[in-house]
Amino acid sequence: MSRYWSQTVRELDPYVPGEQPLEQRKLIKLNTNEHPMPPSPRVLQAISTAVNGDLRLYPDPNGTALKQAIAKNYGLRVENVFVGNGSDEVLAHAFVALLKQDKPLFYPDLTYGFYPVYCKLFGIEYKLIPLDDNFQVRVEDYVGTGAGAIIIANPNAPTGCALDLAELERLVAGNPDVPVVIDEAYVDFGAQSAVSLVSKYPNLLVVHTLSKSRSLAGLRVGYAMGSAELIDGLERVKNSFNSYPLDRLALAGAVAAIEDQEYFKLACSHVIETREKLTQDLRQIGFEVLASSTNFVFARHPKYRGQELLTWLRSRDILVRHFNKPRISDFLRITVGTPEQCRSLIEALTAFIDSGKGPEVV
Ligand SMILES: *Cc1c(COP(=O)(O)O)cnc(C)c1O
Repeated sequence: MSRYWSQTVRELDPYVPGEQPLEQRKLIKLNTNEHPMPPSPRVLQAISTAVNGDLRLYPDPNGTALKQAIAKNYGLRVENVFVGNGSDEVLAHAFVALLKQDKPLFYPDLTYGFYPVYCKLFGIEYKLIPLDDNFQVRVEDYVGTGAGAIIIANPNAPTGCALDLAELERLVAGNPDVPVVIDEAYVDFGAQSAVSLVSKYPNLLVVHTLSKSRSLAGLRVGYAMGSAELIDGLERVKNSFNSYPLDRLALAGAVAAIEDQEYFKLACSHVIETREKLTQDLRQIGFEVLASSTNFVFARHPKYRGQELLTWLRSRDILVRHFNKPRISDFLRITVGTPEQCRSLIEALTAFIDSGKGPEVV
C-alpha cells in the first residue's frame, strides 16, 4: 500500500496468473493451458518476414488484414470482428462496453478468475450463479431471472465442461435485451461454438484467443465476433484506450495462424487424443475426472487433498494449477501436455499414491 495510490488501486484485487518460471528447462509445465506443440511453421515464417525496417512505422490501428482473415474463416463480415491484445484485453473492453449495465452482470460462481477482477476494476455489479452439483451451467438460471448482462466461458474454466449449441441458443434467444458474451477460449478442443448464432442474434458476442488452440500464448492475440453494433461498442472503448493494441509482428503471425487451418486441426486433434488417454490413466489410479472439452482436465482423488497433491507434484518439478475455493479445493487443473509429460505426471501421482504418503481424508 502506498499513500500515492488512487482509491481505485487501493481497492483492486488483481488476477494472479499461473507460475511462469524464467528457467523452464527441467520443469514440466502443466499449469497455464499452453499448447504442447509449437505454432504453425507458417506463423514463424510470417513473423520473421515482418522483422524489417517497417517496424519504424505504427501498425494498422484497425488490424484490417487480421479481421479479414477471421471474417473469411468464420463466414462473417469485417464489421463483425474485433481484435485485441490477447482475449483478456478483448474481454476487458467487453466488460466496459457491454457488460456494465444498470442491472447486475450474471456469471457462474466457478469460472475464469478474471471476471471478478474486471468487475472490481470497472465498478460493475455482479451476481454469481452457482454451477449445479455436477459442475454444469444451468441455462434456466440465466433466463428471465433479472440479468443486466451475462458472461459465460464455454467450455467453462476450470471445470472443462461445455454447453451444447441448443443450450447456448436458449441462453441467447431467451435474453434478447441483454448482452451475452460467450468466452470460447477452449472451444476448439471439442465443444460447439456459438459463432453460427452471431448473424441471428444482435446481443451475442463470441470471444476467441490464439493463446490456446493456435499455440500462440506468447504473441497476445484475441478476437471477438458479434453484430456490428456490439463490435462498434468495443471499438469505441479500444479507441479510448490504445490505438495500436496489436503490433506488426503479432498481426503478421496471427493472420498466418488463422490461415493455416490444416496445422490448426492437426494440433487440436493431437491434444484431444492425449487428453482422452490422460483422462483414462487418471481414472485408472483412482481420480475422478470431469468430462473435458478443453486442453486441460479437472480431477480430484477421493483420498487426497488438492493441496498435498500440488505440493508433491511441485517437488517433482511438475506444475499444475490448484484453486483454493469452496467445492473445488481438492481438484487439480492439469493442462494436457505432450504424451511424455502426461506420462511423467501419471508416474509421479502413482508414486505418491503407492507410497501411502499424506494423511488420508476422513
Ligand atoms: C486463457 C483464457 C483467456 C485469456 O486468453 P488470452 O488470449 O491469453 O488473454 C480468456 N478466457 C479464458 C476462459 C481463458 O482460459
